[in-house]
Parts: sequence; structure tokens; C-alpha cells
Amino acid sequence: MSEIIFLGTAGARYVVAKQLRASAGTIINIENSYLLLDPGPGTLVYLAKRKIPVEKIKTIVVSHHHLDHSADLNVIVDAITEGGFKKRGTLFLTESALRENILLPYLRNYLKKIEILKPHTVYEENPFNFKTTCLLKHTAENYGLLFYFPEGKIVGFITDTAYFEELAKEFAEANILVIYTVRYKPKEGVLHLSIPDVKRLLAKMKPEEVILTHFGMTMIRANPFKVAQELSKELELKIRACYDGMSIKF
Ligand SMILES: [Zn+2]
Repeated sequence: MSEIIFLGTAGARYVVAKQLRASAGTIINIENSYLLLDPGPGTLVYLAKRKIPVEKIKTIVVSHHHLDHSADLNVIVDAITEGGFKKRGTLFLTESALRENILLPYLRNYLKKIEILKPHTVYEENPFNFKTTCLLKHTAENYGLLFYFPEGKIVGFITDTAYFEELAKEFAEANILVIYTVRYKPKEGVLHLSIPDVKRLLAKMKPEEVILTHFGMTMIRANPFKVAQELSKELELKIRACYDGMSIKF
């Protein structure tokens, strides 16, 4: 059995700073092996709250170096390696995240392996299989991710990006699409997706299910559940707004 647990659903500075939604990362559980995606602030706390044993995390993926995706990385590396006494875990991160020292240099040797994320590359870290997309359009080097589950499902994570034409093609194979929808309305110069962008994207794709998450303030004010419901009706697709602690199983 596989499960995805969204520990947090906050995106953008204000929602994270005020913790209007939790900014913890996402857990992917395949047969009791845990992968942690984007350990934002509070990840360690929410792992404990949800009774997810931190030492079960063997794989960490950081899509890009912004704090809402990486702030708890160091404390989690320390926890899973028992302060460096047990060499454990593989970390996948971008070249620029490594350069930005999101992982403190003294912790680097604690991990078994550090792998650099490159565009359009397949990574296999048993039991996890995933592929990066092209470079997304964001203010940091950032990739989208497609996770291949043993049950045959493909789950795409459209992480932080502005809209661009090839986005639909990059995620075409996803059965389930998780979209980091920071904004309700687009704003000039902001490299994040908004609801009109989501509409444009979904006009070109037909995933079985869409999950909106990573909400900024304009989305919170608009009520993500209502927005998802209306969008679902309009586009005749199964679209849900994520909430903190939501899980999907297959
Ligand atoms: Zn970002």
C-alpha cells in the first residue's frame, strides 16, 4: 500500500510566517519506507504530531532552496542519523541548493548519499522512483517531480513555478496532479501559479485527480475548498483543495 500525507499546505511568506496553514513537507510512504518532500518550517513538529517516526525517513527530496521548502532539512538529517552516529539517508537537491548551504557542511557526512537533481532525469532509490521535469520558471533553480508508485499510479508535483506553455506536456503522464497554487489571481512579476493558470493548464490535460496546495494569502482569503469545488464543476474534473494532514492512499 502507498500513501501520500500532506503535513502542511502553506505557501508564500505571509501564510508561512503567521502559520495560517502548516508549512511542513509531504511524506510519501511506500510499504513502510518514507520519503520526505520539501521539509519546510515545522516539518519535525508535524511528523511528531502525526506520529510519523522520523527515523523511518530514508529519502529526502528538496525541490528548491527557498525556506518554505527546506528550513527543517538540517534538524531532520540530524534526527534520522541520530546525530551522525548512524550514516543514513539519501538527499536529493539542486546544485544551487547545495551552493546555498541549505544543508550545513558539518551534516554532509552524516548522510549516506547526496544526489544532485538535474532536468529530465530518472532517480531510483528503492522503493522510490521519480523523475524531474525541465527547469521550472521560478526565482530559484527548481524542478517539478513525477513519482512512480508500485500500484501503477504516477503522481506529479508541480512545485513553485510561473505558468509556461510546456507545463502540460511535462506532466502529461500524471494520473494525480498536485499543483502548488500560491495565488488566486495572477500578479505581474510573481513566479507562482494562480487559478487562471490552473484553468489554462487543465484545459490541456485530463488527470484522474487534481490536488491544489501550497496556498498563499490570496488563496486562503478566497477559501481554497470553495475555489476547488467551483473549478471542479467548471472543468468537470475531480479537483480538491488540500488541508493540513490530508492523506491519499492507493
Ligand atoms: Zn519557492
